[in-house]
Amino acid sequence: MTIRTRFAPSPTGMLHIGGARTALFSWLYARHHGGEFVLRIEDTDQERSTDEATQVILEGMRWLGLDWDGEPIYQGARKDKHVAAVEQMLSEGKAYKCYCSKEELDGMREAQRQAGNKPMYDGRCRGLTETPDEMPYVVRFRSPDEGETWVRDKVLGDVCFPNAELDDLILMRSDGTPTYNLAVVVDDAEMGITHVIRGSDHLNNTPRQIQLYQALGLAVPEFAHIPLIHGPDGAKMSKRHGSVAITEYRDQGYLPQAVVNYLARLGWSHGDDETFTRQQLVKLFDIEQVGKSAARFDQAKLDWLNGYWLRETPAAEMAAEVARLLAVDVASGPDLVSVIESLKERSKNLVDLAEGARFFYCPPESYQEAAVKKNFKDATWPLLERFLGEVEALRAWSGEAVHHLIESVSEEAQVNMGKLAQPIRVLVSGGPVSPPIDVTLDLLGKEETLRRLKVGISRLRSLD
Ligand code: GLU
Repeated sequence: MTIRTRFAPSPTGMLHIGGARTALFSWLYARHHGGEFVLRIEDTDQERSTDEATQVILEGMRWLGLDWDGEPIYQGARKDKHVAAVEQMLSEGKAYKCYCSKEELDGMREAQRQAGNKPMYDGRCRGLTETPDEMPYVVRFRSPDEGETWVRDKVLGDVCFPNAELDDLILMRSDGTPTYNLAVVVDDAEMGITHVIRGSDHLNNTPRQIQLYQALGLAVPEFAHIPLIHGPDGAKMSKRHGSVAITEYRDQGYLPQAVVNYLARLGWSHGDDETFTRQQLVKLFDIEQVGKSAARFDQAKLDWLNGYWLRETPAAEMAAEVARLLAVDVASGPDLVSVIESLKERSKNLVDLAEGARFFYCPPESYQEAAVKKNFKDATWPLLERFLGEVEALRAWSGEAVHHLIESVSEEAQVNMGKLAQPIRVLVSGGPVSPPIDVTLDLLGKEETLRRLKVGISRLRSLD
């Protein structure tokens, strides 16, 4: 049997951490077992579904590297199949038309509440023999009144639902649109989904879906419901806790590998290990090691993993994203991969790294005031002039040569190297922070170093 899983987001909101984790677990399960993973956009709620949300889902999944097999399937385009399933059940007496008005239903529920019962549809249209013409109706499922439905969940274990507690579910609304539970069953069956992996907020839908599979004579898939993600305080996730569109993490400088690693550890574990490559996750992941209790979102851990993957990932793999964040013409400056190499050990995230790289491509227009005040004294100017002269005379440009020059000029003046290196750094970068000065100047090249030093000296001296 080929394992087939799916991710079935509704494009009514953004793809956030929770949805991305569900997608990841489904993807990992399929890839681990050499199966297939399909993407189904559940856009049946026409009013609340937006193209923008669909784009964020597709973009977010691509960014995380969660590739799906075949084309994405749009549920809205499959309405005929849903209607056919409803008609089949109607003709077999497994579903019926219900003509109850909203007022009637409200009254029924109110009476149930007052009698201390759980409000649910009482099945009053089940036995209608004369069906009124021209009156709006919904189609309801004739659900069994007795017995129980078991969900054999691969994460949560066996969960029992007494059938008497499940009322006659609406399959088709009065406007002819199918409901979620009907559409999801028809689609999962037709797409050959063997394992339905989704958030535990759907657990209560599952016994109803199992009954629908049975009524339609379809094979019931396996289910795995993943516990939800809570905020650090144990409460439901909020925007403050990372409940933001997954693509925002990209804009904030997170690496997809770090986010994937982090998401995997939200509910899944493998011993005490914390860091996993994508290949390791595919190799090690199985649904059995997903925990039953809610996971907690931990920003500090995500940030730590991001720093870890920033150091582990080859600079060349990050170049395109850094260039995107920089949004300047990097071809006119030093080799971006080498620039990234010089910065990645010290950077917190890609935004931080891109900002650290910016001066290589955009010469400073001003100089940080505090850094100027601290590093430029009367004795600085002759040191810089001396250094400039030496640079001009230097034939072979290299980090090593630059290092020796700074060393010899400062030795000669009997000051420590920082007295010269730091003013140079301010002049070429605009501030007090850059990669080691020899690396920085080597990357900038002789010509650009000279140009920046001269421009900087004349600007600052004119302020003296
Ligand atoms: N479309 C549903 C949602 O976004 C998921 C359906 C499912 O996984 O069964 O919550």
